[in-house]
Amino acid sequence: MNATKVLEDLNRRFPNEPEYIQAVSVVLNSIEEEYNKHPEFDKSNLVERLCIPDRIYTFRVTWVDDKGNVQTNMGYRVQHNNAIGPYKGGVRFHASVNLSILKFLAFEQTFKNSLTTLPMGGAKGGSDFSPRGKSNNEIMRFCQAFMTELWNHVGPDEDVPAGDIGVGGREVGYMFGMYKKLSHQFSGTFTGKGREFGGSLVRPEATGYGNIYFLTEMLKTKGLDLNGKTCLVSGAGNVAQYTVEKVIQLGGKVLTMSDSDGYIYDPDGIDREKLDYIMELKNLYRGRISEYAEKYGVKYVAGAKPWSEKADIILPSATQNEINEEAAKAIVANGAIAVSEGANMPCTPQAIKVFQDAKILYSPGKASNAGGVSVSGLEMTQNAEHLSWTAGEVDNRLHSIMKSIHEACVKYGTEPDGYVNYVKGANIAGFMKVAKAMMAQGII
Ligand code: NDP
Repeated sequence: MNATKVLEDLNRRFPNEPEYIQAVSVVLNSIEEEYNKHPEFDKSNLVERLCIPDRIYTFRVTWVDDKGNVQTNMGYRVQHNNAIGPYKGGVRFHASVNLSILKFLAFEQTFKNSLTTLPMGGAKGGSDFSPRGKSNNEIMRFCQAFMTELWNHVGPDEDVPAGDIGVGGREVGYMFGMYKKLSHQFSGTFTGKGREFGGSLVRPEATGYGNIYFLTEMLKTKGLDLNGKTCLVSGAGNVAQYTVEKVIQLGGKVLTMSDSDGYIYDPDGIDREKLDYIMELKNLYRGRISEYAEKYGVKYVAGAKPWSEKADIILPSATQNEINEEAAKAIVANGAIAVSEGANMPCTPQAIKVFQDAKILYSPGKASNAGGVSVSGLEMTQNAEHLSWTAGEVDNRLHSIMKSIHEACVKYGTEPDGYVNYVKGANIAGFMKVAKAMMAQGII
């Protein structure tokens, strides 16, 4: 495989899909050497079969708003690869959603799911529907309309969706309800469900907690821990909230959180009480992060991201490409020791290079944010067993999965000078398992 040639070809075939090409390029560049040690891979054109999704469903979603207007949105499900298990990946509702973004997310999900040690393939879905400013009834009608198209393509052994940006417990509940009605089945077809109907304990916390468990493992390699460290967090949604919760528990100090309008900077740190306020503000009242600044009398910077602030640890937890080269240079100049991604692909390739050249700890989301899908995998197991485990049991398993992902990154990513290239480690470890499964299953 010649990564440059493969990428040129993909660029020609998919010229309007920059996020997808970006994600593929980071993976191919880091696995090229390992891939070429296996001539049998090239003989079966494994690389193209891995880069191009198995199938994509695209559909119109029609729903009626509160004023009686008929609205249309686009709906998608990208089923990327099911070599090691049923398709699995979240659903995103955001105005920016398009096929390029969902193809990048489904591609990344395939390798992430492989890293978790659990049997799950990769998928992603969503819509350009924006939940912002919508009433609860509009959200419900939209979720139901979305499922009237999707229900026939998902199932507990076929494709198991979950949440992502704009899709939390409420939306999963509405989609699961409609799926159940149409399929006449009560099954583990969604994860991130409410606790009363098959949801796993610790699933809401899992991505944020998992990121901090992974970060703790990275810090350990330098003889460090989180206690007393300052952190910048972006986002104020599911991942950001539980990231902050775990940082507080482990003695760190979170200085920032953000949403798509701007960020707050709290020099005293966001403590438990302030985090409770944010959770209520975001999860119940669907408010803006600027209200935190008004309530606590701290700085709010509109239209900006928090990366120019000084801190030890950087935890991007909002969306893709939120740290560019310039922001990465500011982060390094401010003396940060670690960047651990909670979001998917929040750092551009140029930003990643800045971190790696500076030899600071840097982990890609497919490793450090894999805790969410890991507990989703555990939710699938509990549903299949018709049992539910205690929070302690799920959290212990999450902890040990994050440790094993870290070990795999160190195994495949340690460079001759001892620096751990977590991008290379995660990509090779994730790739090899999927590749071997595909080889064993023939040309399909
Ligand atoms: P939420 O919808 O709960 O929160 C997203 C947060 O990011 C909100 O604060 C939102 O602000 C902000 N945000 C969204 N889009 C943008 C944007 N274009 N620019 C600036 N800020 C933005 O989503 P999650 O917390 O679930 O997801 C966050 C990230 O983590 C995503 O990259 C997701 O793919 C990834 N992830 C999520 C997992 C999960 O279990 N939920 C698992 C693994 C990864 P606003 O409210 O203003 O839109």
